Amino acid sequence: MTHTFWGFQFGSSRLLDTSSYTFKNGISPRYATTVRIFPVLDALSSISVSREKSQVIAVGLQMNHETNEIRLLIADNHHVSQALLHHLNKVWRKLQSLSDRYAEHRVRTGRSENPQYQVVSPDIPIQVAALKVEIFRDVYLYSLQKQMRRVDKWFQRLGKFVRALLERRGPSNLDDFEQNLSDTVIVLLIALKLVCKLRDNPETPLTDTEWAVVCSHSMAANENVGGLLADRNESGCEILAEELKDDFHTGNPPEAFALRRALVKLTALPQHIETLFGFAHSPRLRPALQYSMSIVGVPGRCRNAELPSKQAGWAQFLKTIWGEEHRWHKNVAWELAGKKWFAAQKYMCMIHCECKLIHYLETSHASRWDNVARFPYLGVSKLSCGACRIWISSFNELGGRQYYTRGSHDKWYWPWGMPIMGPALDKVMDKMMAKEVLLAYISHERTSGRLRAESESTGVSLLGAQHRPSKGQLKQVKANTLALRRAFGGDLLLLARSEFPGA
Ligand SMILES: [Zn+2]
Repeated sequence: MTHTFWGFQFGSSRLLDTSSYTFKNGISPRYATTVRIFPVLDALSSISVSREKSQVIAVGLQMNHETNEIRLLIADNHHVSQALLHHLNKVWRKLQSLSDRYAEHRVRTGRSENPQYQVVSPDIPIQVAALKVEIFRDVYLYSLQKQMRRVDKWFQRLGKFVRALLERRGPSNLDDFEQNLSDTVIVLLIALKLVCKLRDNPETPLTDTEWAVVCSHSMAANENVGGLLADRNESGCEILAEELKDDFHTGNPPEAFALRRALVKLTALPQHIETLFGFAHSPRLRPALQYSMSIVGVPGRCRNAELPSKQAGWAQFLKTIWGEEHRWHKNVAWELAGKKWFAAQKYMCMIHCECKLIHYLETSHASRWDNVARFPYLGVSKLSCGACRIWISSFNELGGRQYYTRGSHDKWYWPWGMPIMGPALDKVMDKMMAKEVLLAYISHERTSGRLRAESESTGVSLLGAQHRPSKGQLKQVKANTLALRRAFGGDLLLLARSEFPGA
């Protein structure tokens, strides 16, 4: 189940319907343009993740239209490293160059005057190909550890699933969806073999030509995966996985292969890079890349918490929060006191990055940015947890500035720390939060019977600044896949058996 801060499901639908919301202080007063910056902020937060696990990043935005300045604010669940700030600065500068080259191309071809191209992005000039590969390489290398974890977890499984499909149907009897899936795996195989070569021999960097292959094949896979995920009202993946459950499954008891998840995970990083290409390519979003950019790392923050250790302590806590004693408090206090999750009494609680970022945006720093409007949408590399969702919703109810992210997966993590917002706000927020979180937590415990601690991030929002692979790139992909097939005498099943062996 997913929750959103807007009153509709986003995590599952992948489409962002924000038509009833106003988002001021963005790149443009036009609503359609404002919405296009959301996936860009989400992409920036995702390409900021370099560690294999336990790293979540939030990105905020301020724009000063009088001085033509833009400021990015970066928060990490732990602390923001200098290496990250350097990485983002470097990527941003290159996106600015890319945007400049696209703009020059529009002027040269007379397209900057054409009103049609104020709405639809024009074709991609080939002169920018090398710069795009360079950006792709920089982003990919920074997030390599994280990306390899996804590849190790999902790619062989995906290949074996396709092998099972080919065994069952026979390579010449695939329908369009299945053919597209099998093509996607071959395209990914070509890209990921090169990436694995780099991982296994880090002292031998890939050549520019090899990076161009990884880039073009990743872009082609992105495009295919978009079609696969959307197939039959977003149920095509599940229908096929269910049909092949006897031939290929995971877990015990056997579960249908998580085909959708595999495709999303394997293409997440290239999808985010593609969003950034689309950002640089967009005439409407260009002001953001023309302004002078500065970047700020939000300082790390923790909060100490002390919990009751016994049933009586929890009962007193519940009474204080609710303002009176209720009959059900006794049972709940007993359950909470028995939770092994709360075995210790004192905790150093990490404040999650989206809450940390809001805290920073709401605090005065004696800087000229204190008076610059904040953009209410915060990019996040992962959907928010249950406690953050409730905290942001509660904060938005206070009547001041409002903040939004792309939604919540509604899982629970402990310890979780609440930002200290100052005495007046804390008095309201502490009570509101404790009550809301406890109610949600108790209801969650009752339905699931356990705390879900497994981490999950969602895929990429496909809305907004999108970017297709060029004709040249697609030609290269076609030639390479054909060569790989020929190496196996055109026998797809032989290829699958060789590349994805074992059970
Ligand atoms: Zn959280």
